[in-house]
Amino acid sequence: MVVGVDIGGTNIRIGSFDKEGNPEVWKCSTQNQANEIPKIIADFCKGKNVKAIGVGIPGTLDKSCRKIQNTPNIPQLNGLELASEIELATGIPVFMENDTVVLMIGDAEKLQLPNPGVNLGIYIGTGLGSCVLINGEPYKGKNGFGSELGHVPLLGKNAKCGCGNYGCAEAYVSGSYLQRLRAEKYPETHIADIFSVMSEIEEYADTLAVVIAGAVQLFDPDTIVLGGGVAEMKDFPFQVLKAKLYEHTMKPYPAETLNIISAAEEAELPAGVYGAIAYADKRIR
Ligand SMILES: [Zn+2]
Repeated sequence: MVVGVDIGGTNIRIGSFDKEGNPEVWKCSTQNQANEIPKIIADFCKGKNVKAIGVGIPGTLDKSCRKIQNTPNIPQLNGLELASEIELATGIPVFMENDTVVLMIGDAEKLQLPNPGVNLGIYIGTGLGSCVLINGEPYKGKNGFGSELGHVPLLGKNAKCGCGNYGCAEAYVSGSYLQRLRAEKYPETHIADIFSVMSEIEEYADTLAVVIAGAVQLFDPDTIVLGGGVAEMKDFPFQVLKAKLYEHTMKPYPAETLNIISAAEEAELPAGVYGAIAYADKRIR
């Protein structure tokens, strides 16, 4: 069996399917337990015949995917060679990746995305994550930071981004932006209802569309997968986004053949855990 681990800012989820295909998931808090991660994973694997462990990380990794470069929400993990530490604790090969890549690999399998082909994943949560899968493999670039659409700079914008730069796309389309907007203009509204009341829908969808259009013009993807907590919120402006994306991409192509679909619905295992299993499974095949 293969075990999947989804490390989040709040929770760690570990899961697998047993021989009969039944799911098992453990969930524990990340708070004060970041140093215990290898041990917790080893406990989950005890007594199981585990061939590989896939791990999704909410941050950036070095190009070899062995070392964590930066995890803003879990600073204790910064600089840690976590893959090796988990291997030491478990004696099982570990395959680590950025959590967005892991989600996209899970979705590519569930949604049977074209392979060979180019598929673009956009996941809007606290931040804006993205992944370009080329023939099933994530595009990396020189340093392993390729296809990070969240940090594409927007002209004339100057809000500070979590990465330290100013005017990044993430600061205008992510959950953090919606929280900021709510605090400033809609303090009476619950965050879950923000899309139902905000008057900035057009501008929001337009900004997101401009960023995605840039990637569409670069890669001419077969499919664009849209997911993440924000994309699943009530009244998320999916149709406005589609119209804006058509507007901002070149006619007739790629505009006329744009195929933008929702991420797969979560089934027996959390999406991040499922993706981590799919990722490790690919690596040992
Ligand atoms: Zn940034």
